[in-house]
Amino acid sequence: MQALVLEEKLRLSLRDFPIEREETVGPHDVRIKLHTVGICGSDVHYYTHGGAGIFQVKAPMILGHEASGTVIETGGAVTTLKVGDRVCMEPGIPDPQSRATRMGQYNVDPAVRFWATPPVHGVLRPSVVHPAAFTFKLPDNVSFAEGAMVEPLAVGVHAAIKADVKPGDNALVIGAGPIGLVTALAALAAGCARVFVADVDDTKLALAAGLGPITPINVSREDATAAILKETEGWGVEIVFECSGNARAAAGVFDPLAPSGRVVFIGSQQGDVAYNVGKAMVREARVEHVFRYAHVFARCVAMLSSGAIDVKPLITRRFDFADSVRAFEIAASAPPGEVKMQIELPQ
Ligand SMILES: [Zn+2]
Repeated sequence: MQALVLEEKLRLSLRDFPIEREETVGPHDVRIKLHTVGICGSDVHYYTHGGAGIFQVKAPMILGHEASGTVIETGGAVTTLKVGDRVCMEPGIPDPQSRATRMGQYNVDPAVRFWATPPVHGVLRPSVVHPAAFTFKLPDNVSFAEGAMVEPLAVGVHAAIKADVKPGDNALVIGAGPIGLVTALAALAAGCARVFVADVDDTKLALAAGLGPITPINVSREDATAAILKETEGWGVEIVFECSGNARAAAGVFDPLAPSGRVVFIGSQQGDVAYNVGKAMVREARVEHVFRYAHVFARCVAMLSSGAIDVKPLITRRFDFADSVRAFEIAASAPPGEVKMQIELPQ
């Protein structure tokens, strides 16, 4: 019964961890045997930096929050799931009594307990107990690997909803990492005619170009705004999704934006970003921010099942659980061309 434990900054170990034996199944919970867990940028950041902002790793913590698995036990009051169901899980558990939760915005509940965010343990371990309300059944035609992609996909779908995508809009996605690419897929599924994706990695841009009506822009060679204005008869894009976390890119979001356009900030920023309010004003730009997602897991599963969204090309590498320390070392080296790496647990 081993777990992948971040002991401290830059020190991971695969070892027995007591939490497995301590978790009990409440009436509204299920116990899930983990199958596939994706490696997220946040997991890698905790490994390389020992924390992020206010969340610092002060005690050994199990990593991983992008997960799928099989229900192996159900609480007495659970009616929506049964033993043997294949599922994916929404990793944040809000306080049902909190004001934000009661408003429907449970993702911004300050008391939310989110897997692999200190001090809450993640799920790179054999099993976990989770509320049935945050556990979603996978149809037969959605694999465990795709199920473990629902969590990052949810960020893109939430962003597309915030952007108010209208049929025929053009969008720019800045950053071709996993979140940038799921955002591009979500924007297309929401009705965008065309999506431009800007990055500096030619391998990722080539992958992006194969996902649909996506025009790659390598910003190390080409100015994104100039390219977009040329392709849109000087109008610009109705939506800019900032997924790079790069401060300079974030400051320039209004340049390629069409009049009355929307900007959604998705990539996390380490410091302050100064932006040109004048450029935003003359466009009457609307600026949105997302923090994770709310109410979108079932939509994501439905789109994977129907074929409206295909995330399989984004899964570029798989590791056995026994190799998970090496998987994190590789992920931390940010190899070019890799998008989503996943770890498979022994079944
Ligand atoms: Zn994630």
